[in-house]
Amino acid sequence: MPQTLSPELVTRLEASGKRVTPDRELLLGIIERQPHLDAEKIYRVAQKSRPQIGLATVYRTLSLLRELGIIRATDLGENHFHYEVCADEHIHLVCTHCGAIADIPVPPSVRHAADAEGFEVRETHFELYGTCRNCRQGAARHG
Ligand SMILES: [Zn+2]
Ligand SMILES: [Zn+2]
Repeated sequence: MPQTLSPELVTRLEASGKRVTPDRELLLGIIERQPHLDAEKIYRVAQKSRPQIGLATVYRTLSLLRELGIIRATDLGENHFHYEVCADEHIHLVCTHCGAIADIPVPPSVRHAADAEGFEVRETHFELYGTCRNCRQGAARHG
């Protein structure tokens, strides 16, 4: 399976003045296709197409892409970050049973309320913790 990156992300990387190296392209492509993975999982996926890639390279590339504002890292209180491409603001629905993370949009009323306070929002992190649909259905099936 070819690990292609969307042209939009290639442009963003190039616009930041950084070269699109095979490692960067591979890692960013993985993050784009599989949002919310942590560094270890990104590393394992990357190894399938580039067995020679090192974990240090993965960490270095992730921190570079973060500094460039191309990806963002979310801390869910697990001693590691979950990475995804910076896109629209969204709320994370975090299942505490299976670890699944889903995205839902942030209601505009949140922005409006911040505006009303005269507050300029720079960054948003919303996490809701609970039980996902699959886990709830599984629980219902098993008693
Ligand atoms: Zn779940
Ligand atoms: Zn997300």
